[in-house]
Amino acid sequence: QLRLSQPVTVPQYSALARLLSTLAVLEQRDGKLNPASLSAITAGTKLGGSVTAFVAGSGVKSVADEAAKVKGIEKIIYVENGAYEKGLPENYAPLLVENIKKGGFTHILAGHSAFGKNLLPRVAALLDVQAISDITAIESEDTFVRPIYAGNAILTVQSSDSQKVITVRGTAFPAPELEGGSAAVEEGVDPKVESTSEWVSEDLAKSDRPDLGSAEKVVSGGRGLKSKEEFDRLMPPLADALGAAIGASRAAVDSGFADNSLQVGQTGKNVAPKLYLCAGISGAIQHLAGMKDSKVIAAINKDGDAPIFQVADVGLVGDLFEKVPELTEKLKSQ
Ligand code: FAD
Repeated sequence: QLRLSQPVTVPQYSALARLLSTLAVLEQRDGKLNPASLSAITAGTKLGGSVTAFVAGSGVKSVADEAAKVKGIEKIIYVENGAYEKGLPENYAPLLVENIKKGGFTHILAGHSAFGKNLLPRVAALLDVQAISDITAIESEDTFVRPIYAGNAILTVQSSDSQKVITVRGTAFPAPELEGGSAAVEEGVDPKVESTSEWVSEDLAKSDRPDLGSAEKVVSGGRGLKSKEEFDRLMPPLADALGAAIGASRAAVDSGFADNSLQVGQTGKNVAPKLYLCAGISGAIQHLAGMKDSKVIAAINKDGDAPIFQVADVGLVGDLFEKVPELTEKLKSQ
C-alpha cells in the first residue's frame, strides 16, 4: 500500500488541550514570510491548546505583522537581529531555547524543510529531549505518525518527553487561512549568543515558474527523456501550458538533464500538488516517496508494466516523444 491512507481525524482532547501550548517556528527570507512554513501552525491547531508563532531575522516586524493575520494563532513572537537572518542553527537554536523557556511551550513545531531539519534536532539536544521528524499525522498530544523506509512503512511514535520537538511534513498539513486572525505581536528575548559560525554565501537557482514544493501542478521528467536537450525541449512547454512547476527523477538529475533543485523523491523534494504529471519515470519507490500523496497522478510511459502505473490515477502507455508534444499542443489550444 504505497499511498497514505485517509488523513487521521484528530480527536479533541478538550481537558488536555487547555494545558498544551505550541510554538510554531516560521521561516522568512529577506523580510518575506515563507508560506510553506505555516504548516507548523496547522499542526499546532490540530494538537489543540494555544499556538504561538515565532520568527527571527532582520526586518521581521513586518513578517510578524503579516503572520498575525493567519488564522489559528494567539500570539506571534519576533526577534529583530541580523544574526538570525539565515537561520544558522548555531545562532538560532540558543535563541529559540531562551524563548521556549520563557514561554513554557509544550510543543515546538517547524516545517520539515532544510531550515527545520537543520534547527530542531539542535534545539531538542539543548532541551535534552528526543526530536521527532517529518510527522504526517497527530494522534494525540504525545503520539505522532511518520513514514519510514521511504514511505514503505508507517511508524507511530509515542514520546514521554516533557517537551516535544517536531518537524512536520508540509504536504500533510496544508497551510491555514492567511486572513481572519488577529494575533498579538510581541518582541521575544534575544540572548545575543557569540556566534561560532558565519554565513559566507549562497547560490540559488532562480526560476519564474511556481515553486516546486508548493505548486498546484507539477510536470516531472525522468531518464526516459534521454538527454538534457530533449528535457529542455519537451518539459518547459508542457509546464507552461499547464502553469506548472518542473520536477525530475533522480536518474534525470544524475544524468544532468535537470538541476538538482528539481529532484522529487526520498532524497529530493516532497510534493503533493493537485496534479503530478510525469513522463519517462519508472516509479521507483524512492521517487514515489516524494510524490505519491499528489491528488491526481498522471503518467506517460512506454512500458505498460512500469510501477508508476500502480499509483497513477491516469496512465498513458506510449512514446513520450510523441505524446508530450501532442498533449502540450492540445493544452495550448484549449
Ligand atoms: P528509470 O528507472 O530508468 O525509468 C525510465 C522510464 O522511462 C522507464 O520506465 C521507461 O519505460 C520509460 N521510458 C523510456 N523511454 C521512454 C519513451 N520514449 N517514452 C515513454 N517512456 C519511456 N529517485 C528519485 O527519483 N528521487 C529520489 O529522491 C531518489 N532517491 C534515492 C535514494 C536512494 C537511497 C536510492 C538508492 C535511490 C534513489 N532514487 C531516487 C533512485 C531511484 O531508485 C531510481 O533509480 C530513479 O527514480 C529512476 O529514475 P527514472 O524513473 O527517471 O529512470
